[in-house]
Amino acid sequence: MGKRLLYLIVTWMVTISILSCQQRENVQRTISVTILPQKFLAEQIAGDKFNVNCVVPANGNPEAYDPSPQQLAAVENSEAYLRVGMLGFEIAWMDKLSHNNPEMKIFDTSQGIDMIKSTHSHTHHDGVSHAMSVVDPHIWCSPKNARVMARNIYNALEEIDGTNREYYKARYERLVQRIDSVDSVMTQMLLPCEGTTFAIYHPSLSYFARDYNLQQLCIENMGKETSAFAMKSVVEQARDKEVEVVFVQSEFNPRQVYTFAQEIDARPIEINPLSYDWINEMLSISYAIAHRQQ
Ligand SMILES: [Zn+2]
Repeated sequence: MGKRLLYLIVTWMVTISILSCQQRENVQRTISVTILPQKFLAEQIAGDKFNVNCVVPANGNPEAYDPSPQQLAAVENSEAYLRVGMLGFEIAWMDKLSHNNPEMKIFDTSQGIDMIKSTHSHTHHDGVSHAMSVVDPHIWCSPKNARVMARNIYNALEEIDGTNREYYKARYERLVQRIDSVDSVMTQMLLPCEGTTFAIYHPSLSYFARDYNLQQLCIENMGKETSAFAMKSVVEQARDKEVEVVFVQSEFNPRQVYTFAQEIDARPIEINPLSYDWINEMLSISYAIAHRQQ
């Protein structure tokens, strides 16, 4: 009797430890992304199947970012890297990351998005700033693009973990519904604002402007602080376009933006296009433009 009880207990303990091993294994599977809005999208689809490691932390600049040794190690433990597409960090580091972890699959979440060509500046990790005509990398600041990114994230997860396809599909569909409702609220809010020009330090809202028929006036000059001379011309343009909203991004030079706002007698509004809380960020940016006269 005692022996049988002991046998039962041992069997039970072995079963439990196998189960918890499996659970732990599940939690340990990791994918990496570059920025927090992407982490948000990826987590909605991956659920508890993957840990989503985000390389650029809050307040980091994804266009000129040097990862710490811990962050490099986290990427090395990843089964896949989901790049935004053409962010400066990704251009500078992707070869090295894939060299350090040749097994890691790399997916481009911008695939299928109609990219805007612009003069965008990147400060490379060697500290050298290059201004060149490239595609605008800020694709995540528009629900229409986020829908494509979500699709690409779903496809990536299906490819690396096909056994959980149904799980990802259900979560992906729920996410698309949420993105759709954000899009329709924004459309309603911004419809009366067609053609409105807003100002922003760094041109993070090009896709947002394109998708909702707005105009973006960028204050920075090729990734650098604007000279007094160039500022004069931006102020003139802003007056001409009757700019009422000036967006301030904390990771860029706010001092110059506040001076600019004062100059044109507009309201400076702090935003964070790199926030994890992507839905609220999209809505509050739209709200600021829709209620600009209040
Ligand atoms: Zn940028």
